[in-house]
Amino acid sequence: MSGLNDLYQEILLEHNSKPRNFKSLEDANQISEGYNPLCGDQITLALKVVDGVIDDVGFQGSGCAISRASASMMTQSIKGQSVEHAEHIFDAFHNMIIEPEGEIDLDLLGDLETLSGVNEYPTRIKCAILAWHTMKAALDGDAQVTTE
Ligand code: ZN
Repeated sequence: MSGLNDLYQEILLEHNSKPRNFKSLEDANQISEGYNPLCGDQITLALKVVDGVIDDVGFQGSGCAISRASASMMTQSIKGQSVEHAEHIFDAFHNMIIEPEGEIDLDLLGDLETLSGVNEYPTRIKCAILAWHTMKAALDGDAQVTTE
């Protein structure tokens, strides 16, 4: 992960070693499995959505440090938020990673900006975006998603 500054790298490593919301969710009502064949990252994301709000979220799976840290930060950023807000964060994150030249809502992203450096590493983009596509799939009612 050279090229990312020290603070960013520290946050990533911290999320990787102690991922937030890394748990199964017994009463989840929207679940999706994501797979990134490029790296072998796998994630199962479970959401408990009540009245349009993401009440609780849990993820499980195995993958590289970036996929894990990204999943951890993603769950942290959407927990307790409305589905609509989560979709806005998805869009902002997607833009930051895929179209860094465009307009990026940094207020919405907060710590997620830590992952902005991966746009310089095309092979790691899928790792960073996997959890996000899985979140979108879960909200859309798709049981599985694969990064292309
Ligand atoms: Zn990966």
